[in-house]
Amino acid sequence: MLTIRKLSKTYANGVHALNDINLDIPRGMFGLLGPNGAGKSSLMRTLATLQEADSGSVTLQGANGEAIDVLRDKDAVRRQLGYLPQDFGVYPKVSAEDLLEHFAVLKGLVQRKQRREVVDGLLKQVNLWDARKRKLGTYSGGMRQRFGIAQALLGNPRLVVVDEPTAGLDPEERNRFLNLLAEIGENVAVILSTHIVEDVTDLCPTMAIMNKGQVLLAGKPNDAIAALAQQIWRKQVSKAALPDYEANHTVLSTRLVGGHPVIHVFNDTRPEDGFEPVAPDLEDVYFQRLRMQAKGDAWRQTAQHADPLSA
Ligand code: ADP
Repeated sequence: MLTIRKLSKTYANGVHALNDINLDIPRGMFGLLGPNGAGKSSLMRTLATLQEADSGSVTLQGANGEAIDVLRDKDAVRRQLGYLPQDFGVYPKVSAEDLLEHFAVLKGLVQRKQRREVVDGLLKQVNLWDARKRKLGTYSGGMRQRFGIAQALLGNPRLVVVDEPTAGLDPEERNRFLNLLAEIGENVAVILSTHIVEDVTDLCPTMAIMNKGQVLLAGKPNDAIAALAQQIWRKQVSKAALPDYEANHTVLSTRLVGGHPVIHVFNDTRPEDGFEPVAPDLEDVYFQRLRMQAKGDAWRQTAQHADPLSA
């Protein structure tokens, strides 16, 4: 559906935001998981044709099976794309209905009757029908994001890109929003960028983890979880001993349980007495990939220092 090859972008300040990205994104929900600064927004903005890449290619399978060059044929992409940016702002004094109608005109829906049908249908789909006359300034965060989805769906896009949409939503709003995305994902490709592991766990049949402009893993969450079987170990430790464990083991996460730290450690055998095996989850996968990348970076730095040829 969407094929990304060797995509790279370096900003003027020297930050390598995208470093040789390769991804295949099928129909359905695709989770793009990474910490702040990973490069998610840079990738989303590039896919949304709002930003230039330095090199690489992105190909979108069009409605009639044609291949659209996303980096060059921007108008064709925009006709098939819906985008909810990270900083989606609304006009606070305008009602949802009026603003959506306005966006619909901009999308080229010039016939009044047809436009009304589309706008009404979308307001119902995102569950804002009863609140359609209210000014957007009175909306909760979750309602605003659902309005953002309605505007992204104008024009029947085949690809919907949503950038960190659940940040700042309370658990109930988050669930409601994610369920809406899942429904949409039944028909089109939805790329959901997030730093929240649970956003991906329940909803996304395929995913990628990225950090520092690189893809660290791509595939099915369950495969990635299965690959860590028998390698995640848990132990409750004292706060005083925590730094020692962090120095001597690959500690993936630390959680306070009843006031005491419980650590998850990645190791192919039991690290020492007192560790018990646990079934891995996506959070273990996520932190394991980030740790391995950090270790690789540290190793490369020391290797470079030791290598007289690189001086
Ligand atoms: P994410 O969405 O995962 O938080 P971003 O794509 O926003 O990541 O940022 C990736 C990196 O690129 C960060 O180091 C960020 O500071 C940097 N960056 C993002 N936008 C710009 C820009 N317009 N100019 C310079 N650096 C940028």
